[in-house]
Amino acid sequence: MNAADRQRYSRQILFPGIGEQGQEALLASHAVVVGCGALGSFHVAALARAGVGRITIIDRDYVEPSNLHRQWLFEESDAAESLPKAAAAARRVALINSAVETRAIVADLTARNAEELLGGAGVILDGTDNFEARYLVNDFAVSRGIPWIYGAAVGSYGLAMPVIPDRTACLRCVYPDPPSGVQPTCDTAGVLNAIISAVASVQVADALKILCGCASQVQPRITTIDLWYGGIRQIDIPARDPECPACGRREFSWLEERRRPPVTLCGRNAVQVHEREQSIDLTELGSRLAPLGEVRANEFALRFRIDAYEMTIFPDGRAIVKGTSDESVARSLYARYVGS
Ligand SMILES: [Zn+2]
Repeated sequence: MNAADRQRYSRQILFPGIGEQGQEALLASHAVVVGCGALGSFHVAALARAGVGRITIIDRDYVEPSNLHRQWLFEESDAAESLPKAAAAARRVALINSAVETRAIVADLTARNAEELLGGAGVILDGTDNFEARYLVNDFAVSRGIPWIYGAAVGSYGLAMPVIPDRTACLRCVYPDPPSGVQPTCDTAGVLNAIISAVASVQVADALKILCGCASQVQPRITTIDLWYGGIRQIDIPARDPECPACGRREFSWLEERRRPPVTLCGRNAVQVHEREQSIDLTELGSRLAPLGEVRANEFALRFRIDAYEMTIFPDGRAIVKGTSDESVARSLYARYVGS
């Protein structure tokens, strides 16, 4: 650590839990934030300010005006430019702490890219909004022995739970399968911005303990918080289940892609098509679509409006189709305008 770092992080070094040794460890550490929406953008900002040396930011979506009330890193200009969240976050981190090395990944986390995107992480923070991604992260983290911190928030309620492989129960010990039926989301049930920072802070504190070499300080507890109608509670995480498919029997079905649907609903009235992995030249596609409807494009994504639909197409071949919750309509629009 040089003199400037010692000055910059002096108040964090003074805190006995971290100290100079802990700060050195943070500067050399690597965190991966999966999903850079509300929780994730708070994670990224806090980790960057704490001096975490490398941050990988994974997000498949772009900034919209309706994100701004709760997604701390983003600004009106990011929404106006329709910047991908991962790219907007990395740009902001460069202003907050220019020494942090960021890797912005505008993609869906899948079983196929999990090793490339999550491998080498000291800790993985869950900033996703769906169980498909969380069970994949759990499979990967448990299989590689990487700690991860589950977090979720909707309305005024949220929860956080650390998973330390071989020490605590994993997600599947506690919830063997994802919940069935339609779950409330921030898009359908709304969300209070303060619950985001509360839950994200609990996650970040555990991540910092792990990254500064104090993983033993992580309490095996589930924290639940309701900032409007209730209070703050902590309960012990149940004991590990020796029959748990993931950490007990070491069967990683999400990682082996047996559980992944080709098309997923995302939020209200939007469908993501990610079954066709193909590299797309957005400039070429833009000139093809321009005579048919309104096209806006930047280097990260192309947005195309046609009739009542809006398609956002990414260079990796993914598309988010707004204006429908019908998967077959989304597939058909994709086939018609992007091609297969
Ligand atoms: Zn387990």
